[in-house]
Amino acid sequence: MSIRENLAAIRARMAAAATRAGRAPESVTLVAVSKYVPVERIAEAMAAGQELFGENYLQEAEEKIGQLPAALKWHCIGHLQSNKAKAAATLFHMVETVDRIKLARMLDKYAAEAGRLLPVLIQVNVGREAQKAGVLPEEATALLGEMRELAHLEVRGLMTMPPFFDQPEAARPYFRALRELAEALASKGLLGTHGAIELSMGMSGDFEVAIEEGATLVRVGTALFGARS
Ligand SMILES: *Cc1c(COP(=O)(O)O)cnc(C)c1O
Repeated sequence: MSIRENLAAIRARMAAAATRAGRAPESVTLVAVSKYVPVERIAEAMAAGQELFGENYLQEAEEKIGQLPAALKWHCIGHLQSNKAKAAATLFHMVETVDRIKLARMLDKYAAEAGRLLPVLIQVNVGREAQKAGVLPEEATALLGEMRELAHLEVRGLMTMPPFFDQPEAARPYFRALRELAEALASKGLLGTHGAIELSMGMSGDFEVAIEEGATLVRVGTALFGARS
């Protein structure tokens, strides 16, 4: 299948999942995950109508973004070291992986220097996996509280990457937990102050379940571009 065909199939599945959940298909946006994908294939996805991409590694993102039209939008979806905050604050349209105050402060500082308001998500480790980045759910309140004074960051919502399962249904409780955490934080006035709350959750194997549980951003790589080399 071509990238164009894959994209059409993913969009159809996204719309069907949204409809099943009583949600408008337009309420879910596809982030095409392009890590390790060469620019020629990203350009193919662009020609098929995809404008938003997600990259994990700063240097790879810098190289590829510079070779592609400026009309494309890019989300940082990988773990970000503080010493990469300066580049990230100018390169990306959104950083989905803020998980500590030090990184948030650096992004805020460099967003200020660049004269921009940087949209960010808080990455939450809902599965409490030792090897995964993200704040634990009970740490989110404190981080968001500390981030309130950072005037150049716009906290738009939460992101998660649940434990890996062969069965997509097994990820459902984690997606639901992220949505419930977002609702709890919103009720404390810590989320939703910049408009609708974004929930970035769901990948190739489980994006439909994530949409049923409220995802507004799904991050899909393999189902669009094929297996990564
Ligand atoms: C690689 C990656 C994805 C995409 O995973 P696929 O299974 O290829 O769809 C999504 N989110 C993050 C954070 C990733 O690192």
